[in-house]
Amino acid sequence: MSLPDQPFDLAIIGAGINGAGIARDASGRGLSVAIIDAGDVGGATSSASTKLIHGGLRYLEFYAFGLVRKALAEREVLLDIAPHITWPQAFVLPYADGMRPVWMLRLGTFLYDHLAHREVVPGSARIDLRSERAGRALDQRYRTAFRYWDGWVDDARLVVENLKDAAARGATVLPRTPVARAERVNGLWQLSLADGRSIAASRLINAGGPWAEDVARRVMGLNDAPPLRLVQGSHIVTRRVHMGRDAFMLQQPDGRIIFIIPYEHDYSLIGTTEGDVSRPEDATVSAAEVEYLLAAANRYLARPLTPDDVVHRFVGVRPLILESGKDDKETTRDYRLVDHPGMDAMTIVGGKITTYRVLAEDVMARIAPKSKRWTADAPLPGGAIERAPNGLRRENGQAAFKRWLDQLTARESNYDPKLVKRLAMTIGAPAADLLAGGLGRNLGGVFEAELDYFKANEWAQSSADVLWRRTKLGLHLDAAAQAEVARWFGEEPAAVREIPAGHRFARPSVD
Ligand SMILES: Cc1cc2nc3c(=O)[nH]c(=O)nc-3n(C[C@H](O)[C@H](O)[C@H](O)COP(=O)(O)OP(=O)(O)OC[C@H]3O[C@@H](n4cnc5c(N)ncnc54)[C@H](O)[C@@H]3O)c2cc1C
Repeated sequence: MSLPDQPFDLAIIGAGINGAGIARDASGRGLSVAIIDAGDVGGATSSASTKLIHGGLRYLEFYAFGLVRKALAEREVLLDIAPHITWPQAFVLPYADGMRPVWMLRLGTFLYDHLAHREVVPGSARIDLRSERAGRALDQRYRTAFRYWDGWVDDARLVVENLKDAAARGATVLPRTPVARAERVNGLWQLSLADGRSIAASRLINAGGPWAEDVARRVMGLNDAPPLRLVQGSHIVTRRVHMGRDAFMLQQPDGRIIFIIPYEHDYSLIGTTEGDVSRPEDATVSAAEVEYLLAAANRYLARPLTPDDVVHRFVGVRPLILESGKDDKETTRDYRLVDHPGMDAMTIVGGKITTYRVLAEDVMARIAPKSKRWTADAPLPGGAIERAPNGLRRENGQAAFKRWLDQLTARESNYDPKLVKRLAMTIGAPAADLLAGGLGRNLGGVFEAELDYFKANEWAQSSADVLWRRTKLGLHLDAAAQAEVARWFGEEPAAVREIPAGHRFARPSVD
């Protein structure tokens, strides 16, 4: 892709959720934007999260009311603007002997219900596990629980959705292009890209996630780089532990909690761990972590999991604000925007998937204070589905999506309804045109037209981009089908099986 000679208003290093959200917001306010990532867009932390849009019930214990309130309010916004890749998710939090008392669970869930406005997300309730379907998954000694609600999001797709909208509004998106060096020359930032190209920009934002300190220090040459605390978190994917829709939030004797979440219909996602790492590249799912997660789940499950039930695993690195004297679970999950005075540059530190949109608004309030907020009620591309009037208000995104999906399934009755649903819950609104145009050759559970679509519209350049990030088909397709996808991208098919995505947390070399 050839790059324009004139400087961009804004260059962003890092196309994780924070960079992507800023790129979208800034493009929509009329700024010319370039966003550059060393690897696949969303290929690092933003595809390795627990995928919850949550206030964080457990952060109430640390009196993080401001963060929890901000994040809770975002649940309704994200459920509305990205209904195809989000949904309200119920969590069952059992009372366990020797852990937090019932009154504390009741108080926590009560506060959680009332800290922010709710429209789509239901309220919490105390439940009797002996008469609930969720109770069947748990050992009989667990009788009392609280059911509360948060949101679920496909994190990797949320990144892509933001970038698609940014690109539609004029942004230049450059994946797989490490920024080797960024220097101030005559009042502009000059970015030298590892492929030999360069771009100029009036302002630079470092959204390097766990590499933000390294980018500030080594790539931008700044000596006021904000210190980060890097905390790795691993997840395992197992056979599904129960067929209900509830997820579980399970207290552990070490004071931590783990989640078991229904995942990709046939599976459960279990996470996460916490352990300091000194470099993001050092993060890897250890055998001890798998053992910890299995033991943590088995403390509650009626039918214990074994290592043979683990079908996939992935690790991510939380880029947290360094707070001395606090341990991993106490360290804030909030973000900080660090200005580099006189440099027209900013480094983003910390944050959550949940708060990416308000983070982008805060960035814009600093760099374009006269421009207007616009993203809270502007659906992302896949969520751009017509909303029917609902009395004096418009229909919410979740209801509109359900109605649209029913209509689409009826209209496209030649296709298996499960396939229609899968495509609709992947790319959203554009699925209508994709289906109408015909899907082409079936490569064993994925169609050629899908691959064309991901390549042409979503920057997919490899089988892993499609199998593990644009979709999670890597969990469902057999080896032959995965090899077909690899061949379609011109790769050696063997590579797909040898590197199950996300075992290691790596960024392609910047040097
Ligand atoms: C285990 C775990 C579970 C989590 N669960 C949740 C959750 O359930 N809900 C929630 O809200 N949040 C959750 N989070 C937090 C959330 O995932 C992160 O805060 C968020 O993804 C960080 O996004 P980011 O854009 O800052 O970083 P990243 O997604 O890591 O993006 C940074 C990007 O910068 C790029 N980059 C770095 N250096 C360069 C360079 N020199 N040139 C070009 N590009 C470069 C990298 O390639 C990378 O893609 C979780 C995090 C972890 C680790």
